[in-house]
Amino acid sequence: LPSRLPAVGTTVFTRMSQLAAQHGAVNLGQGFPDFPCDPQLVDMVTDAMRAGFNQYPMMTGAPVLRTAIAAKIGALYGHAYDADSEITVTAGATQALTTAILCCVHPGDEVIIIEPAYDSYLPTVELAGGVPVLVQMDVGPAGYRVPWDRIAAAVTPKTRLLVINTPHNPTGTVLRQADIDALTAIVQGTDILILADEVYEHMVYDGQRHESMSRHPLLAARSFVVSSFGKTYHVTGWKVGYVAAPAPLMAEFRKVHQYNVFTTNTPMQHGIAAYMADPAPYLELPAFYQHKRDLFRAGLAGSRFELLPADGTYFQCVRYGAISSQPEAAFAEWLTTEIKVAAIPVAAFYRGGTESGIVRFCFAKQDDTLRLALDRLARV
Ligand code: PMP
Ligand code: GLN
Repeated sequence: LPSRLPAVGTTVFTRMSQLAAQHGAVNLGQGFPDFPCDPQLVDMVTDAMRAGFNQYPMMTGAPVLRTAIAAKIGALYGHAYDADSEITVTAGATQALTTAILCCVHPGDEVIIIEPAYDSYLPTVELAGGVPVLVQMDVGPAGYRVPWDRIAAAVTPKTRLLVINTPHNPTGTVLRQADIDALTAIVQGTDILILADEVYEHMVYDGQRHESMSRHPLLAARSFVVSSFGKTYHVTGWKVGYVAAPAPLMAEFRKVHQYNVFTTNTPMQHGIAAYMADPAPYLELPAFYQHKRDLFRAGLAGSRFELLPADGTYFQCVRYGAISSQPEAAFAEWLTTEIKVAAIPVAAFYRGGTESGIVRFCFAKQDDTLRLALDRLARV
């Protein structure tokens, strides 16, 4: 069979998690928590099952959940999405991203993707027949920054979509007001749509604020804004997320969504809606993860790893040039098999496998797990 995705193999996350399990390594590779979610959330989901919420919900998602999502976005970012026509519940953020790309990218359309990029964007653009236009972030002592001048230069009359990810996986970069101004200048007066992957919206540190597209009316008017309860509530295996977009964009999204998954599981939607009545769990998330980031950074400070800034997400990128000159994949494998701590090579987030001598660790782990990993990494 001629492959639709000839350049694609098994994802780096699957490979590194398997290697970590085989070698008994602490898995700081694939991004997921090793601690449980709030038992109250589990109770709310099981209550929903017992109450009989076990058949298909509406194609667009359970109305109680859509209403709770719209209220949350309104309270946090000041944009009033209509829960009926502008919010859709999805099977995780991944499906929201895929469906958004499939609904608006026509064969030959150009899609600007900023590298390093989360691994699902590019293959999906190719499945849609779109042409990925890759622009690499600059990486210097101040960390990774988006080169807006080169993004502006990459725009052509064929540009349909620009994919934004803030806070950014894998670099932890958080867009600031100056970035928003530059982005606005680029898209204003064009038909370019924005796909904003904001799954780490509640993981922003040191008092910075998350610049959701929803905060900025000019951007919100052309954006699909995607988030994930997996990240926010420590339940990556539940695969419940959502997309918010202006009604005309959402109408196109739903045309694809209804044949893509139709909808996602009912009891989780009802349980999450009940849990959302209390904003504390997501309002407390920055402090919760900032503690872990600081613990991890303090533990590495005396090592030969060089820490890059980590302003958001639950990832910490490090340079390892003082330790080894191996390529990133080989170094990450050596760390996993010999030092028994798994990491992800950042080269995996570049189509061309660009090498920067940087690997990514995930610090969404119990403090004891982080300490065990730090003990091992200190010996490198
Ligand atoms: N986008 C980014 C940037 C991610 O890191 C992830 C999860 N690793 C996703 C999307 C996918 O989220 P979900 O598990 O809800 O599909
Ligand atoms: N988003 C997670 C990460 O970046 C992995 C998700 C996945 O395994 N596809 O580590």
